[in-house]
Amino acid sequence: MKNRPIVLFIAALLMGATACTAQPEVNPQNEKKNPHYSHTDKAPVKVSNAEWKKILIPEAYSIMRLKGTERAGTGPYVHNPKSGTYYCAACGNALFSSATKFDSHTGWPSFFQSLPGNSVAKVKDADGFRDEIECARCGGHLGHVFDDGPKPTGLRYCMNGYALMFEEGK
Ligand SMILES: [Zn+2]
Repeated sequence: MKNRPIVLFIAALLMGATACTAQPEVNPQNEKKNPHYSHTDKAPVKVSNAEWKKILIPEAYSIMRLKGTERAGTGPYVHNPKSGTYYCAACGNALFSSATKFDSHTGWPSFFQSLPGNSVAKVKDADGFRDEIECARCGGHLGHVFDDGPKPTGLRYCMNGYALMFEEGK
């Protein structure tokens, strides 16, 4: 019986580790009510972080509003084989087609091209050397773009799965 607390402690650790590394198939942000989420409204979305914090799940909030990064292999859509469109998880702006998704073996959903038009914006990262990718409609941080991607563009849009919302279709 002396060992019991240790056994319980190890069990708790293991359960915690499983919870942290579980990879959701769909972004759980999907379940939240979000008045700014639209596939048709193209008007810029200007919302305070205080309001986003009420709307976004913690993972999406820390990535999209605080420029965080999910741990590799922990976010949704890394291995999503379905055809469809990836939208901004905060505002619903169309960002990427599954036709440009590729397996980068990084643990993050990766694309070699963004959708034409007002999908994403490239800005210099505060670190001074990387290029950050934001949603062009709401300014939410999505990830980074690198120039080591496959043909035909040679680009690798390295995205956080929690910043994306996938819908199956064309
Ligand atoms: Zn957006």
